[in-house]
Amino acid sequence: MIKRLSLISASVALGCIVTVAPVLTSIYIADEDAERREQEDLQQFAAKAVMRTELVTYQAFAAISDMEAPPGGLCSATQIAQFARVVFNYRYVRDAGAYGGGQYLCSPLSGDVRAQHLTMPPPDWRSKDGYLLWYRQKNPLSNERQDIQIGRNGNYVSIDPQSYVDLIDPARRPIAAINVETNTILALSPGADADDMLNAWKLAGQVNNEQWHYAVARSASRPLGVVVKSPRSSLVGHWPGLLVMWLSIGVVVGGVLGWIAFRRISRQLSFPATLEWAIARKKLDVVFQPIVRLTSGECVGVEALVRWNLNGRNISPEIFVAVAEQNGLIQQLTDLVLDKTLDELSKLLRSRPSFYVSINVSSEDLRTRRFLDVITARLQGTGIRPAQVRIEATERSFMDADATRQTIAAFRNAGHPVYIDDFGTGYSSLSYLQTFTIDVLKIDKSFIDTIAQDAASSVVAPHIIEMAHELGVEIVAEGVERDVQVEYLVQRDVQYGQGWLFAKPMGVNELVVWLSESSSTLQPIHQ
Ligand code: C2E
Ligand code: CA
Ligand code: CA
Repeated sequence: MIKRLSLISASVALGCIVTVAPVLTSIYIADEDAERREQEDLQQFAAKAVMRTELVTYQAFAAISDMEAPPGGLCSATQIAQFARVVFNYRYVRDAGAYGGGQYLCSPLSGDVRAQHLTMPPPDWRSKDGYLLWYRQKNPLSNERQDIQIGRNGNYVSIDPQSYVDLIDPARRPIAAINVETNTILALSPGADADDMLNAWKLAGQVNNEQWHYAVARSASRPLGVVVKSPRSSLVGHWPGLLVMWLSIGVVVGGVLGWIAFRRISRQLSFPATLEWAIARKKLDVVFQPIVRLTSGECVGVEALVRWNLNGRNISPEIFVAVAEQNGLIQQLTDLVLDKTLDELSKLLRSRPSFYVSINVSSEDLRTRRFLDVITARLQGTGIRPAQVRIEATERSFMDADATRQTIAAFRNAGHPVYIDDFGTGYSSLSYLQTFTIDVLKIDKSFIDTIAQDAASSVVAPHIIEMAHELGVEIVAEGVERDVQVEYLVQRDVQYGQGWLFAKPMGVNELVVWLSESSSTLQPIHQ
């Protein structure tokens, strides 16, 4: 009972795990998937942003090179006109002018300011290829606006820092442009925090933050980089869709797996349970197969063979007997076979005192005297002699040493002859079998099959027969199907046979008819 309960709970648990695990896995995968997509998306955005910083920078360089070699002298009208053309031609250039001796000299925006001595501070940074950079340079016309200035060879351009980070982005993700040599911020988009972005840059985007994803990108040609970030909450946008998709896949896969597991488990669970039920309700039947004396064809006894018809299907005893053995049901099964056998054969056995029935037992039945006690009780007052109920035990069940030896001795002492079934198929040596005292050997059908067949396979049969003779016991040949086998067996002094040649297993009524018919036509078939 406890075994079955634990089996049921184990299968339920297994079913649950098998069903739920794919769903949980799916949620996890959906989570990872959303995370990955978000990261990829942000990384692409960073790549776009870094291209923008390159574009602005190269435009500044191109503008400066257009300003070189002035045709009409420093701050001449021609030069200022040329500067104005540059401002007009280059989208990101807001002003273009000349400087020298630490002062602004002239530009289209401020005019000629040489007389005003407007100081130009030393640059914040020099690039390796000779460009000077001022990060936040006050515009001569405005106190508010601070431009980035890039200069070379006495010419400079002013650029609105916003140009570096001014990307069209409906999500308005914060961007910072970075000088990667100095790790300083060139430009920040609205909503970006300088310390936050710089910190993210230094961590290469690997920021542990529950609210934001970060990504960085670096220019391949200039010492420029960008940091971008996007709120993780933006995931909520595709989360429901992803979750629904993965959950439905998870539920389908989980359902299929759960169903398969449930079917397997319930099939295994129900077979022993159904067998137990069938035994308890005596739904199993017994048929009887005659055992005949080979020389005369006279039926000396029968073997009881169990049958189970489940929903119109005959289940092979080889299968359900094994299941009974594995599930602790075999003793009940053996008892049921004995009960039915005695119920059906008692009249026959009483009327023919030399007639017998042999009952198949399993190793479990040989471990103790229990089954012997059952038989003894059952035969009490029936008038059936103990010798009329015989025990068939397979060679394999003899392996279980001392207890078996004692039980076998007890059966024999109580007057029940003991047969070794399937002789030759086990691995017991002759000397091992000599330590048991038994009455009859049944040579397995597989050896009888080889009789009078090709030479190679039929060499075993005579050895098995010889071994049986050496043990000094009587022999029953199992599975006799052909006349030549009978001839052969008689020549080798095998006394008894059982097989379809004589009769198939049959119910008691059929048996009674068969017995009366065969005894009336009884004649020595082989001498
Ligand atoms: P077994 O004890 O060796 O029984 C002989 C088997 O050979 C039976 O199969 C029988 O129907 C079959 N047989 C007999 N003559 C012939 C023949 O000429 N040709 C062929 N092809 N087969 C023949 P069955 O009834 O299917 O039983 C199979 C096995 O199941 C038995 O082998 C025995 O090991 C087990 N078994 C059957 N009834 C019981 C039982 O009541 N208790 C136990 N513990 N085991 C049983
Ligand atoms: Ca048998
Ligand atoms: Ca057998």
